Amino acid sequence: MEERFKTKEAQNWLKCISAAYTTTDVIAQLADLGFKAFYTFIRKDMLSKHGILETTTCSSCSDVFQQCSMCSNIRNRIWDNHRFKKERSLKGPSWSNTDSTKWCTDSWELAKCYMPSTGYKDKTSAATTDFNGIIGAMYNCTWMQKYFTDDLNQDSNICKKVFYK
Ligand SMILES: [Zn+2]
Repeated sequence: MEERFKTKEAQNWLKCISAAYTTTDVIAQLADLGFKAFYTFIRKDMLSKHGILETTTCSSCSDVFQQCSMCSNIRNRIWDNHRFKKERSLKGPSWSNTDSTKWCTDSWELAKCYMPSTGYKDKTSAATTDFNGIIGAMYNCTWMQKYFTDDLNQDSNICKKVFYK
């Protein structure tokens, strides 16, 4: 190791960086599992409310605003669970991020609807998404509240603290 990395100060910095990476890894795994569970939840809800079987899938609807009835059922639930959705329109989710032809096969495409609308279109997994994108997805998707002890409806909450630090 280079001489200057051996100082006490440098060692402390390296520990900090290592801890930050570990935290990101853990949160990425949590988000990955979380959005898989979110997809399962969506499909169970569609089954119970509309009798749409969980084995019925679609991979051909690429325009979020022109979809078959099954895909629009998924879309409406993505919208419904967005923290900052706008009433009477489908505004809220970052539709431009997502590849809706993969909604039935890749739950990370659901997660991307909850990330900032720039910089995440090409992120195909939790492992390749940065910390802000992951936390943004967890925060903006109200269904993820169950993974937090903090009440994310409060003005001051742990996700906002992470963002603005
Ligand atoms: Zn479809």
